[in-house]
Amino acid sequence: MATKKVKAAGKFSAKHGKKLRDIYNKIYKSVKKKYNCPVCAKEKAVRRVSFGVWECKRCETKFASGAFEFRERDFKK
Ligand SMILES: [Zn+2]
Repeated sequence: MATKKVKAAGKFSAKHGKKLRDIYNKIYKSVKKKYNCPVCAKEKAVRRVSFGVWECKRCETKFASGAFEFRERDFKK
């Protein structure tokens, strides 16, 4: 069926509706995305380790930020 079209939300069946799939795809994208570290300035080094916790793989600093999205501006001086 239309697994290509729904991307990461393909595991949801059609009964969940298009809106939920869109939201899920958006969240999934920002969860998987790597972010720039505001401490050591390394690009794409911060990744999500658990719910609302993000870690820089270079300087190993842990950040508490959005559950599904790293907000770099929270840590800018
Ligand atoms: Zn860092």
